[in-house]
Amino acid sequence: MSDITSLKIQGKVLSPESPDYQKALHRNSDLSILDAAYVVQPEAYTDIPPVLAYATSHGLEVAVTGGGCHSSTWASSKGGVVIDLGRLNKVTLSADKKVVTIQGGARWGDVYEVGGKEQREIPGAPLWFVGVGGSLLSGASGYLSGRYSLGIDNLVAATVVLADGRIVRTSAEDEPDLFWAIRGGGNQFGIVVEFELRTYPAPGPATTGTLIYPGTEFDGEFHEQASVDEKLTVVWARPGPHFKPTIIVAPWISAGAERSPHQILEPLRIKATPVVDKITTAPDQTTLSHASDASQARAPRRLQIRGGAFSKFWTDIMVGSWERWVKFTEDNEDARASTLIWDVRNPGAITKVGPTDTAYPIRKPHCFVAIQGRWVSFSIHLIEETADHLPPCMIRNTRPETDEVTSAWLRSIADFIREANTANSGEDLGVILTMAKGDELPEAVFGQNLPRLRKLKAKYDPKNVWSKGFTIEPDFS
Ligand SMILES: Cc1cc2nc3c(=O)[nH]c(=O)nc-3n(C[C@H](O)[C@H](O)[C@H](O)COP(=O)(O)OP(=O)(O)OC[C@H]3O[C@@H](n4cnc5c(N)ncnc54)[C@H](O)[C@@H]3O)c2cc1C
Repeated sequence: MSDITSLKIQGKVLSPESPDYQKALHRNSDLSILDAAYVVQPEAYTDIPPVLAYATSHGLEVAVTGGGCHSSTWASSKGGVVIDLGRLNKVTLSADKKVVTIQGGARWGDVYEVGGKEQREIPGAPLWFVGVGGSLLSGASGYLSGRYSLGIDNLVAATVVLADGRIVRTSAEDEPDLFWAIRGGGNQFGIVVEFELRTYPAPGPATTGTLIYPGTEFDGEFHEQASVDEKLTVVWARPGPHFKPTIIVAPWISAGAERSPHQILEPLRIKATPVVDKITTAPDQTTLSHASDASQARAPRRLQIRGGAFSKFWTDIMVGSWERWVKFTEDNEDARASTLIWDVRNPGAITKVGPTDTAYPIRKPHCFVAIQGRWVSFSIHLIEETADHLPPCMIRNTRPETDEVTSAWLRSIADFIREANTANSGEDLGVILTMAKGDELPEAVFGQNLPRLRKLKAKYDPKNVWSKGFTIEPDFS
């Protein structure tokens, strides 16, 4: 039997004996790490087809890693082959600067760096370390989504390695079915090695910063009046040393907004006085994407995320979520770094695209919450590099049951928000794929687009080579 290391490719093949193997398994959450038989790091798109042929002919599972940020094990494999796109991370602007070409393993930080130098803005996810690949294939929502919609709605073309090894370009004219499917269908149709996205002129420095309040209920009035050029990120957290429930409000106000930052922020200062009120400006998307670096660096390494879409800030959803979060983080000290992060924004342009125009179905006006379960785990890295800065509760070993308890809590609060919103609005908005876990029903994630996606799965991946992620059953009828 031939060995995968004998394949003639330009990139690297790592096995457990290779010096860089452990580093290549690293993911944003410790829970996402699995021991692969091989990690292949392609340097050229043509490296990928022989690896796929090898894996499929040897019955090995194939996983693909973009930025390694999804809090599942979708980008990892136990005993299979991981195709790690990290070396394919080049970003180039077209001569007229209106389109950016992004290789499949780039992170949003790589993209913003290139756009920022030419005063162009690009609609993507807000944090620099989040992978373009995983987020774009499932939507990609950020500060600019109200004005320019999701990242996926700005895709003009892509280059995809298909399960049978063909490398194809897809756009509205070329392979239009594939183009429709990759805009919201996730990783189920191929490895996207190049994304071509529209860019926009940057209007100037955005207003940002933090307002911090002792924990009370946030009423969401802002949402009703927000324009597409303003957004609040509202975080429920228990920062040390007191670990009391706290509300952290991080505004983003575009330089292009009609109302002044003062007008927008005034209500937040009148209704309650913040204990911290620090407003500043960020010159570009790169700076904004680093805004949470300090808290990310100190955050426990066990992370699981779920998301919730809801039509408005209903009082019962806010009160019920608050009570559930306060109780959970009080009862489970190991997991008290768990947060709820509410996007208070105007969905604007997202709702201008029809639910069947792309594979991404959630187009009704909605708000969004990310529910992050974070809990401590024993880690040599943590002890050596950050122990001096951490409260003692963060550096002891987690209790084994915390994994289970936190996962169950995440599921229960996500279900609560979805069910309460359905009862209040009369409509189930479903589950957003970037924060799905894979245990939801496919109908909830893909909605009315599921039948077409199943047909296209049969066309583009009949043998289910892309078996990781939120899998779509092929329909051969
Ligand atoms: C702290 C944090 C904050 C976040 N905030 C946001 C946010 O504000 N907005 C938002 O939209 N999302 C957000 N996300 C969610 C994020 O979009 C998803 O986790 C996304 O999957 C990350 O992409 P990745 O490439 O890093 O993931 P990976 O873990 O590398 O991959 C996730 C899935 O996508 C597949 N994949 C990745 N790249 C490719 C490719 N090029 N071709 C084919 N398949 C590929 C993988 O195989 C895997 O199935 C956040 C995540 C985290 C951890």
